[in-house]
Order: sequence, then structure tokens, then C-alpha cells
Amino acid sequence: MADLEFKITRNSNPLPAAERQQILDAPVFGANLTDHQVVCVWEKDKGWVSAEVLPYGPIMMDPSAAVLHYGQEIFEGIKAYRHQDGSIWTFRPEANAKRLQLSAHRMALPEVPVELFVESLKQLIAVDGAWVPEPVNEKTLYIRPFEIAAENFLGVRAAHRAEYRVIASPVGPYFTGGLKPVSIWIALDSSRAGKHGTGEAKTGGNYAASLLAQNEGYENGCSQVMFLDAESSTYIEELGGMNLFFVYKDGHVATPSLDGTILRGITRDSVCTLIRDRGINLEERKITLDEVRAGINSGEIVEVFACGTAAVITPIGQFKSREETIGAADSDAGELTASLRAELTGIQYGTVADRHNWLVKLAD
Ligand SMILES: *Cc1c(COP(=O)(O)O)cnc(C)c1O
Repeated sequence: MADLEFKITRNSNPLPAAERQQILDAPVFGANLTDHQVVCVWEKDKGWVSAEVLPYGPIMMDPSAAVLHYGQEIFEGIKAYRHQDGSIWTFRPEANAKRLQLSAHRMALPEVPVELFVESLKQLIAVDGAWVPEPVNEKTLYIRPFEIAAENFLGVRAAHRAEYRVIASPVGPYFTGGLKPVSIWIALDSSRAGKHGTGEAKTGGNYAASLLAQNEGYENGCSQVMFLDAESSTYIEELGGMNLFFVYKDGHVATPSLDGTILRGITRDSVCTLIRDRGINLEERKITLDEVRAGINSGEIVEVFACGTAAVITPIGQFKSREETIGAADSDAGELTASLRAELTGIQYGTVADRHNWLVKLAD
């Protein structure tokens, strides 16, 4: 790995600057990709054999490629932030690298070394830095590193060839309603993660399993789905792609503990730190839907929010299922929710002191 040098092939036909600027003026999440991609190849018995920056383009794939049949796929989500002086930064990339390794281990894919992961972000930004929007309106460049089983073989076993790729897409705010609380659909008929399953891995299959419930949520005016534990449907786990926090009237905060079925959100971990920094009591423990229902109805729970890289911190106004409605859709974002959000985005955009050294510079 130490001698794995990136080979760079520039896109000879990049999007003209004026068209790129049009996209950066009003980016739509995931709709437009930058001019380049990173492609690294791994082979069994050889390890990581190549690392390249290539023009963005389709993957030529054999129909028998393992990923298309048995779902050996994992991904990450991380952002590049432009600061006022024009420099480009990212947030806790080593944490994403380690989580990609955790996901790789669970899904029997090769681990991308932490240095290769961080270097891949730098390499992409070196050629596509102009795609990182100006720091207004919460605009960022969303980076999507992912790994797939790329062996052409229908036998059922861990693939002997894998690819690690990085693509990127400029984004604005994830939910367009500003800090307006969203409604969450409670999945009563589907689970996303079972004991010893893949809930801790950031793998496409977990998302595929969540989409039926998400459709149900959309039909009922909800933007996201909350999943309960698969065994007893009693404990709150998380949303399809975000972790949850509950703020109590007496000032303490609670979030579901990481018991193996919940994705280890890096935003969750950062928010836990920011909460503890403020001297607020934070409980990581099991939380039942019954407790949340009673707490919201009695006023014991005063704020609920979800967090993840894409949407940062999003206030939740109400929970709905086919059986009940908890809370009110027209509530305002809570005070702690708003202030944690301002602090976290301030650190990311370089306007609030980065006292935990979370930022890593990608380009000057
Ligand atoms: C990615 C993801 C999150 C959020 O993780 P961050 O590191 O904060 O972006 C939460 N839950 C699930 C299921 C996820 O896939």
C-alpha cells in the first residue's frame, strides 16, 4: 500500500464553468456529479493493486458481477466544506475510514486503509475542487466513497475482486423547509436490523430494506421512517439514515445506545461530545416507544431531533403510525436542537473554534 501511487487521468471534457456554476447556484441532492471519480482495485492474494483518478463515467460491468446478485456493497457519506478564505476542509475523515472498515469486515469485503481513504478524498478534491460550493445556504460537496464486489462469478462466496470508488455531488440543505420540524413514520411492519445482522454496517441492503416503509411514510405525509428493534418492536433504534436524540424538560438528553443494530453515526458521536462539552447529562441507553409517547404527551420530552451527515441536525415535530399520532406537526425547532446545529455547522464551516480537531484540510 505504501507504494500505491495515484495515477491521474484528467477529464478532457469537463462541464463548462458556466454550467457548473448553474448547478452550484441551486444544487439538488445527488442529482449532479463532478467531473472525476476515484477508482481503486483490490485483488485477493495481491491486495490493493491500483489507485486512479479517472473521468467520471459509467462502470463497465459484467452481468455476472457479484455485487449485482449478492449485494456485497458498502458506502460512506462525508462532506467537503469551503471556508471563507477559499480553503476546502472535511470533517473527521478517519472516523469514516474506520467505519468503512467495520462495514467491510461485516460484509466480507477488503478493508480500505485509513490513509488510502483520506488520500482518495484529497485526490478527488485536487481535480474537482471547483465543485465545492461557496459557504452560503449550507451548501457543500457531498462525497460518496463506496466499495463493491467486482468479480464476475455467480458462485456464492466473498468476491476475489473488489473496487473502491469515490464520487461527489454538490448539495444544498437536505430538507428544503429550513429548520421546520419533520414528521416521522413509525415502521410497525418492517425492521432494518436484527441481532447479529448488518445494522451496524453501512450497506445498501439496509437501505433497500427500508424503502417499503419509506413509501408508506411518504403516503402518510412523513419524510423519514423510524425503526424499532426487530426482536420486540419495543425499543427505538433510528431512522433509515439518521440517529435520534430526545431532550427532556429537566435538561438531560437521551439517545439509543449502540447495541449492534444501530449505525454508528459520526454526527451522533460528534453531537454526544458537544452535549457533554456543555455539561449536559447525556444518557446512552435503551429507549422505548412507550417512554417517548408518554414523554411527548406529558411534556416531559421537549425536543426531538435526528442527525446525520446529509441533513446535519433536523428537528422532529411528530411521530405517526397507522395506529397513532404523537406530537404536533406545526411545532417549532427546539432551542437545544437549533443551538447544537449552529455549533456543529459553525465548526464545519470554520466559523466556530474546532476544539476537538475534527477538521482536516483537503485543499488550500
Ligand atoms: C449514515 C447513517 C447514519 C448517519 O451517520 P453519519 O456518520 O452521522 O452520517 C445513521 N443511520 C444510518 C442507518 C446510516 O446509514
